[in-house]
Amino acid sequence: MADYKEKYQKAIKALDEVEQESFESVQSLYKTLFNILNELKGRHSEIDKAIVALPKRLTGNSSPPVEELERIKDLIVSYFGSADDLGAAPNVLDTLLSTLKVSDELQDGMAKLQKDLAQAENSKDFVKLAKKTASVVLKSIPNTGDISSDAYSIEAINKALLLQLKKWGESDAELEKSIDIASLLQSLESVNSLQSLEHFYKEVFEALGQHLSKKDKFIVELSRLIETVVHQLAEISTDLDKESKKSSEERKSRGRLTALVDRQVNALKDSVHHSDSLNILKTLLSEQLDELNQTVSNLAALESEKAQEEAEERVKNIMGKLSVVESEVSDLKASLHQANEQAFVDALTGVPNRRAYDERIKLEFKRWQRKKEPLVLAVMDIDHFKSINDTYGHPIGDKVLRTISQLVDKKVRDSDFFGRVGGEEFAVIFTGIDLDNALKRLDQFRESIESCKFGSKGKRILITMSVGCALFDEDDAPEDVYERADKALYKAKSSGRNKCISERDI
Ligand code: GH3
Ligand code: MG
Ligand code: MG
Repeated sequence: MADYKEKYQKAIKALDEVEQESFESVQSLYKTLFNILNELKGRHSEIDKAIVALPKRLTGNSSPPVEELERIKDLIVSYFGSADDLGAAPNVLDTLLSTLKVSDELQDGMAKLQKDLAQAENSKDFVKLAKKTASVVLKSIPNTGDISSDAYSIEAINKALLLQLKKWGESDAELEKSIDIASLLQSLESVNSLQSLEHFYKEVFEALGQHLSKKDKFIVELSRLIETVVHQLAEISTDLDKESKKSSEERKSRGRLTALVDRQVNALKDSVHHSDSLNILKTLLSEQLDELNQTVSNLAALESEKAQEEAEERVKNIMGKLSVVESEVSDLKASLHQANEQAFVDALTGVPNRRAYDERIKLEFKRWQRKKEPLVLAVMDIDHFKSINDTYGHPIGDKVLRTISQLVDKKVRDSDFFGRVGGEEFAVIFTGIDLDNALKRLDQFRESIESCKFGSKGKRILITMSVGCALFDEDDAPEDVYERADKALYKAKSSGRNKCISERDI
């Protein structure tokens, strides 16, 4: 019995400290919420005004402005729930549509497209219209295969699109990050056939669509999260208010438990907002939930019998709230994860893309600076790919890209990197092996491509690949090594193709 009493007193003492901190926890939750709300500024004037009117922090013992927060929450839910943020996207289509001269029978369709565009509400509508526009653009071109006969001013359309893309890149930093505008501009310059024009339009609209739907998802998740946090804040402040009205005896048995659990709920939320890596977030969350479970069950055992029943009820209640928060967080985590994954995967081939390469080479470069283990970079380019497209058509060209990507991807070791860095260009990063061994592997890749039985309509298509590679050396930056590997690739091309050349042979 004495043991029990002693334990109980110890727990009470520990809880006393926790109670003092309970106000701080409300403050910190408010701060987090305030920061998230600031992320939304600049999208809607009414929401902006309401955010500006909020106190920056809670001072003294003031309670959070729950009513104002509820109002902002309602505004956010009604605004972002109904329409999404299309930004500058419709301008491109509008410019395109108004520059386009079409034959009479397409006139009506054009007018309808323009009308629909003015009414487009979200990115799904936009992408649908973009696809229709692409097909109108293509129908309007006389099918001679030669687009330089500019009876329908294709050049003017392309110029308008080019200008718009440039403007976009300058004004929308986020877009510039998620779409490789420079490479789109480059492909636009090399458009020289009807098929490559079609391919180019698809590329632009797919990129736009991906960018927009990522933006939508982010906004929806963010407004959902805000809703949860506001709700939580309102509940905590009601709980605290009730506690303060109770007799001090009652508070001893109840208030502390609530304060402790609430504090941990806040810590959980803090970690959601302050961790920038999904893995860290996951670990933090499960650690905090374990800790919370542990604390709650220890405390419940220490409370007096009568208080225990009540405590259990409260714990059940709070655990219920927590599991809702937990599942919100795990949804958010999943969609962030998916958006993240998509951003690093090439949509056509399913292998890592240019952005993934940029990240990985940075990482391997740092590792190489620390460890000095050999690091080799190779660039690969399909031979005469343009003539494969010209002879068999773009869809077959795309199939070749997918087949080759999968073939090489399977052969590359887990510790190495393989990705598509341009139209028909790939990069490989070999870690921990020297130039001779890298050349051996590259030659295996090259041979397996050459002997791959790829065919169209019963005819075998011979596909070959040229490769250049270089080793990281003292004082090298990744760009220097890429340049040397590219020079070696050029040598492989100029000396007959279907071969692997290292920088030593230039
Ligand atoms: P070389 O052997 O010198 O590399 O000749 P090449 O024809 O392969 O090189 P070039 O750079 O002249 O042509 C590359 C072609 O790749 C032109 C472009 O239309 C095509 N291409 C780029 N991206 C794609 C794509 O995603 N799908 C398809 N089907 N073709 C693409
Ligand atoms: Mg090329
Ligand atoms: Mg090529």
